Amino acid sequence: MEKKILISACLCGDKCRYNGSDVKNDLKFDDKEVLKICPELLGGLGIPRESCEIVDGSAEDVINRTAKIIGISGKDYTNEYLEGMEKAIELVKKHKIEIAYLKQNSPSCGYGKVYDGKFRGKIIEGNGIFAERLKKLGIKIIGI
Ligand code: SF4
Repeated sequence: MEKKILISACLCGDKCRYNGSDVKNDLKFDDKEVLKICPELLGGLGIPRESCEIVDGSAEDVINRTAKIIGISGKDYTNEYLEGMEKAIELVKKHKIEIAYLKQNSPSCGYGKVYDGKFRGKIIEGNGIFAERLKKLGIKIIGI
């Protein structure tokens, strides 16, 4: 059966967050119908990894290469994030995804809410880069 529902892997209990944790949610699906994705792992980032935020711009700016995704140390991870996003989007197209359940606040999966790029725990309106691409593809997104 084709997979038409996408879910951020950490919401399924995969311990793929930057600090090795998950945010398991109570959503119930038939496993066969759900595609679990962690764009950051697809981009080659490890567990644990640095906490990163979109700095000096929006997700669209990162995709257009006029803003960056930076770690708390100041290291630039933009290339890894963009590579993971592209690989994740390939899977989305292959599986004809129609609806995506995405983890809030992430610079990849965040939908509607992300950190402000100053590493001070402040949330602002905005999307992660993966959510931004999904939105542009017309896929329904539910931020969790
Ligand atoms: S929010 Fe997205 S990128 Fe971050 S750990 Fe979860 S699935 Fe991976």
